[in-house]
Amino acid sequence: MNSNNNLEKIRQEVVEAGLTLAHSSMTIGTYGNISQRVDEKYIAITPSGRDYEQLTAADIVVTDLAGEVQEIDASGAVKAINVSDVEQGNCVKSNDETSSVPLRPSSELPLHLEIYKNFPEARAIVHTHSVYASALAVAHKDLPPVIEDLTQIVGGAVRCTEYTIAGTKLLGEKAVEAMQGGRSAALLANHGAVCWGRNLKEALATAQILEKAAQIYCVAHSFGTPFPLNEKTVNTLHDFYLNHYSKRQRGEE
Ligand code: 13P
Ligand code: ZN
Repeated sequence: MNSNNNLEKIRQEVVEAGLTLAHSSMTIGTYGNISQRVDEKYIAITPSGRDYEQLTAADIVVTDLAGEVQEIDASGAVKAINVSDVEQGNCVKSNDETSSVPLRPSSELPLHLEIYKNFPEARAIVHTHSVYASALAVAHKDLPPVIEDLTQIVGGAVRCTEYTIAGTKLLGEKAVEAMQGGRSAALLANHGAVCWGRNLKEALATAQILEKAAQIYCVAHSFGTPFPLNEKTVNTLHDFYLNHYSKRQRGEE
């Protein structure tokens, strides 16, 4: 496990990303969820069904890659919790500064874990119920690479899964299938969208850019035919993002 300070920083970043989600139009109420890798063994994920505005770093649940919830002691050390306690809701304690007993993890934990297991580059995940991405998802339509910023960051069309009920491992498997070829986003049929990034900022930006692109695509359809970029251009744009533009964003170029 990372040092106590680093774990707290990671949980605090998840809280702040939750506020960004809550203050955007990318989800309503407690829906959607966010996670970030702590290290090679653990992830930090938003609790299930909790108001983003009320979350503190201590409410962000830590699990291992098998989905086992960990208890964090004052020194930052971790201890596995009895899974049946979590399933039965016995671990639900919120906003109690004196307690380290975690809340129940997001019901989409299996979706997040499948993505982390299949894409080692994924260090953070944002799942949204944003309107235009969901509009495409209810129509079971892929979003073609029609606009540059989305194409740069995702690397091609954002594919839509077939319908799979929320909260299942199968949903995770379908999302991974839709992301084949290294795509960092997928539409979840009749549900919403999921995006990963090499850091939390990138995962959040991908979700925002995806929603903007889905809106542009729907609007363009109302008066004409959107023209997708060709494969060579798609690859050029994605390479530029990975090798230059994202480095400039991080101040590395
Ligand atoms: P959680 O509140 O359990 O994270 O679930 C929200 C959601 O979006 C389910 O798909
Ligand atoms: Zn959802």
